[in-house]
Amino acid sequence: MRQPLVAGNWKMNGSRASITELLGGLKAGIGQVTTAEVAVCAPSIYLPLTQSELQGTPIKWGGQDVSVHASGAYTGETAGAMLSDFGCHFVIIGHSERRAYHGESDETVAQKFSAARAVGITPILCVGETLEEREQGITEEVVARQLDAVIAHCGIDMVGEGVIAYEPVWAIGTGKTATPEQAQDVHAFIRGRLAANSQSVADAVRVLYRGSMNPKNAAELVAQADIDGGLIGGASLKADDFLAVCAAANR
Ligand code: PEP
Repeated sequence: MRQPLVAGNWKMNGSRASITELLGGLKAGIGQVTTAEVAVCAPSIYLPLTQSELQGTPIKWGGQDVSVHASGAYTGETAGAMLSDFGCHFVIIGHSERRAYHGESDETVAQKFSAARAVGITPILCVGETLEEREQGITEEVVARQLDAVIAHCGIDMVGEGVIAYEPVWAIGTGKTATPEQAQDVHAFIRGRLAANSQSVADAVRVLYRGSMNPKNAAELVAQADIDGGLIGGASLKADDFLAVCAAANR
């Protein structure tokens, strides 16, 4: 049985004051709320604050991106060892915003996956199609290509050490959500693709749903056989909403 995971992605939001308040709300509310593993992915500059607020609580934390390089002259980048220095358990890899606005290729994403594993951090690998790709009927082709690039670079066993997040890009921050059935279809496809390489990895890896998941739709999504929790954007910025999604992820 896979333990559900609910991870917040704050993106480039927050301030010292608002993050302190948000984390205060999460710490106060998390108690018995969920059997899921819970994490928040903070902007790098707020990782020290996040660490000091969450240390000793059941809530884990992580980064939103990692460099492919271990160290050196790479201005503006954050190395895996730096994330690890601040206690990060997770890092988001290949978010559609990184792929779209920073030109991250499948190969770069694969390198980032192994950079995270090199320092013991669990990568949350994002894969998913744009609206145009869905309308062209190539969702599975796109997801397979993104997944296969990481399997080819890292090997299936290393992929088994991560988490996968399916992101219908057309549902990110738009208020649109894939129906539970649409999401389940792609989640099952992802698991099948993993199974073609290793049944044990396919059985164990958590596949999260990502894209406008909120307190209203979370329970229905997480009830699907192959949806093991969520990567939550907008709804992770309000303690009550995030806690409600966590509660919905109980299994
Ligand atoms: C995200 O981009 O990681 C995300 C899940 O965003 P939202 O929930 O706001 O669609």
